[in-house]
Amino acid sequence: MARYTGPVCRLCRREGQKLYLKSDKCYTDKCPMNTRNYAPGQHGQARTKKLSEYGVQLREKQKVRRYYGILEKPMLKYFLMADKMQGITGENLLKVLESRLDNVVFRMGLASSRIEARQLVVHGHFLVNGKKVDIPSYLTSVGDVIEVKEKSKKSPKFKHIQENSQGNTPSWVESDMENLSGKIVAESTREDIDLPIEEHLIVELYSKNK
Ligand code: SF4
Repeated sequence: MARYTGPVCRLCRREGQKLYLKSDKCYTDKCPMNTRNYAPGQHGQARTKKLSEYGVQLREKQKVRRYYGILEKPMLKYFLMADKMQGITGENLLKVLESRLDNVVFRMGLASSRIEARQLVVHGHFLVNGKKVDIPSYLTSVGDVIEVKEKSKKSPKFKHIQENSQGNTPSWVESDMENLSGKIVAESTREDIDLPIEEHLIVELYSKNK
């Protein structure tokens, strides 16, 4: 299961905006975007060239990939899925991305970031409808119940998550932090995605190569 393993703050700096990949640190003065808000690397500060239309589309796609922590191949797969669904392709794409198990765990407040959610899922701490699922890309559906395994509930990690829960879950999930569980009660909506994303740019980019 391939994934990006480099420093995640570089990804925010590359995209020129906060992608909130590190939980608590993202909301403090320690966030590098407060002090080094320019692209990483030797020539990062000198990168002022105006982007081409293709460049703008590419950056938007990369930003979304980084936000959800996925590589290019699955991103293309999700686009093709979204393209076949009824409705607006860009919104469908975000809906599919939101339904990934690692994202749902994060949205329910059962992890402090998507990166942590992914790790906890891979380590087998979650049940979906009573069955163990350790695949972060598992696509959930409305009605699915996600819960932390009984044995894992006592671990210091989940105690910490429970104690520091912010309780700000989106309307499409219900969360029960006392029992470390949650339910998907509706499909995610475009309004629930708190990052400025222009998904039509991603659709335009992929549509060129269809
Ligand atoms: Fe991005 Fe968070 Fe790192 Fe700031 S602290 S650069 S928001 S990952």
